[in-house]
Amino acid sequence: MRRSYGRQPPLPKPYEFVKIDEMSDEHRCHPKGHEDYGIDKISGELKGEITTLSPVHVASGMMELTGRRDFPLVKAHTSHNGRPIIPGSSLKGAIRSIVEAISPSCVRITRLRSNQLPNNTSACKNKKSLCVSCRMFGAMDYLGQVRFSDAVLQQGYTTEIAAIPSLYSPRTREGLYFDDSGNVKGRKFYQHGNLAEGNVPIEVCPVNAKFDFILSFDNLTEGELGLLLIALGLGTPKFYPKLGGAKPACCGTLEITIPKSQIFEDIERAYLQYDVEPTDIDIPKYIDAAQEIVLNDQLQQLADILKLDEQRQCPDRNY
Ligand SMILES: [Zn+2]
Repeated sequence: MRRSYGRQPPLPKPYEFVKIDEMSDEHRCHPKGHEDYGIDKISGELKGEITTLSPVHVASGMMELTGRRDFPLVKAHTSHNGRPIIPGSSLKGAIRSIVEAISPSCVRITRLRSNQLPNNTSACKNKKSLCVSCRMFGAMDYLGQVRFSDAVLQQGYTTEIAAIPSLYSPRTREGLYFDDSGNVKGRKFYQHGNLAEGNVPIEVCPVNAKFDFILSFDNLTEGELGLLLIALGLGTPKFYPKLGGAKPACCGTLEITIPKSQIFEDIERAYLQYDVEPTDIDIPKYIDAAQEIVLNDQLQQLADILKLDEQRQCPDRNY
């Protein structure tokens, strides 16, 4: 009997879940307006650098002619003004989903109905009462307190072509989100591992490419800034954010560092001394302050999913 490709037994799934705890009302509060700078809040800019640890592909939606015989047409990576970039929106989305998973935050994007979620975790609806990730990253018509620039590929680096498998996941996705007792499994994250090869050509930023970006923020508490630094992968246990396309095939592994930053602990004084020199950021100080917000079980689960794992082979067919 002829076997179709799709009937092979599925490979191990390339993702895992971080559990969602129920939330209490005290985890939501009024976000402060941007004009309402408190002296106990901090504002500033992190000048970040991204190093790719696996190829990164953020689809531009365009196809590109390569002039190559093997792969004449590829799915193009996103560029701006002729330079490959990781759009600020992609970076923000990836970091937000980590913040959501490791702090008492609502479940914003889900196919589940609110009565299938743990108590009080459905998306914040009242902009006077927002969870920490909605306050930081925005909700409805509230802009949020952190902004990511596009991350621009540094001079000297260029894109290349990678051939990835044509991946598909099982037809019945719904069941995957529940455990045997019908409870929601949690927030889904794709693991890192060895790149899977296939025959779909995509334009990627190669391994060890470097990007520059700026993360600006205003009116955060020390703990919120610490939460952001942990989500960037700067805490312990160490983990690595992941973004863009072909995540199941192990694309999109990033290491983020903050070579320089400007932090204003007192915003009014900062405006008077406008030419503040960038300095090194005291990462442990803010990460310590984040202990009051971070959910430690979830941080451990996430770090275990997003650790580097050279033994792990990403699926090259159905999973
Ligand atoms: Zn929320």
